[in-house]
Amino acid sequence: MAYAYDDQNIFAKILRGEIPNTTVLETDHTLAFRDIEPQAPTHVLVIPKGPYVSFDHFAADATDAEVIDFVRTISKVCKAEGVTLADGDGFRMIANAGKHGVQDVPHLHVHILGGRHMGRMVSRTD
Ligand code: 5GP
Repeated sequence: MAYAYDDQNIFAKILRGEIPNTTVLETDHTLAFRDIEPQAPTHVLVIPKGPYVSFDHFAADATDAEVIDFVRTISKVCKAEGVTLADGDGFRMIANAGKHGVQDVPHLHVHILGGRHMGRMVSRTD
């Protein structure tokens, strides 16, 4: 079955300029912007500009140029935020997918969280 992409999701609206955002970095294929409800001193969302619902969708269907640009943009954001292991204390990357992954916005986004100790990865609570 094909992946279904809903172009009315909030990040699609951000990409079309219908909703404002605080941009950290923008390239031909990728946008990085601050989360509206930050959970850490650094909380940046990195999204591809293409219509991909989740990481598995992106990994399967994106062009090589899109994949490379997305990965390199994540690196640049980490560097700009001072959270790389080269110049900081590290970070957590999260990409929630679907119902079990508790994904609220159905457009692929990687959360980059840092600037504080993030605690253990997953709790057992629902
Ligand atoms: P998810 O639960 O899908 O992994 O994460 C969605 C994230 O998007 C949440 O952290 C939420 O705070 C963020 N978010 C939701 N709406 C907006 C918005 O309009 N602007 C920005 N910058 N972030 C948003």
